Amino acid sequence: MSCPSPRPSKTLRFGVGIAAAAVLTAVPAYRAVASAADGTTASDGALDRPVSPFDDGRPALDRLDPALLAAVRQAARDARRDGVELQVNSGWRSPRHQQHLLDEAVAEHGSDEARRQVLPPDRSSHVTGRAVDIGPVEADRWLQRHGPAYGLCQVYANEIWHFELRTAPGGSCPPRLPDASAG
Ligand SMILES: [Zn+2]
Repeated sequence: MSCPSPRPSKTLRFGVGIAAAAVLTAVPAYRAVASAADGTTASDGALDRPVSPFDDGRPALDRLDPALLAAVRQAARDARRDGVELQVNSGWRSPRHQQHLLDEAVAEHGSDEARRQVLPPDRSSHVTGRAVDIGPVEADRWLQRHGPAYGLCQVYANEIWHFELRTAPGGSCPPRLPDASAG
């Protein structure tokens, strides 16, 4: 996992996540999008805004597991037919970027809560290119319902935006873990 909680101002900045923030204790990944201020750059996988899964030339997407990126793109094409636009808030992250996110979460929430939100670089599936954070909330809802057709599964109950390839296309997703600390 890996998805830090946002400060309200940054959540607002992207115009998303408000509903999720209201219902979830650990808030969305959108802050990861805005974290370039911590010194990380695009080459670390930092994104300054949500991006289309079809954008090329971004390490956050280019360094994803190709099978994962292909699944997300196929899902995005099909979601569009349902009037839902899938966007990527975070994808591949360098160990440095992941560590920054963890440090921020610890500073903000203390280490116990941070562990439920952000994994260290050596355990994060974002660092291995095997996780994506998807938004906005209606896209998350669409993927919760249709993701298994592409092998895409919500892994953590407290992160409706975090998806990984966890089943064969058309298969059944494994039970969700309560949060990243359970993985
Ligand atoms: Zn994530």
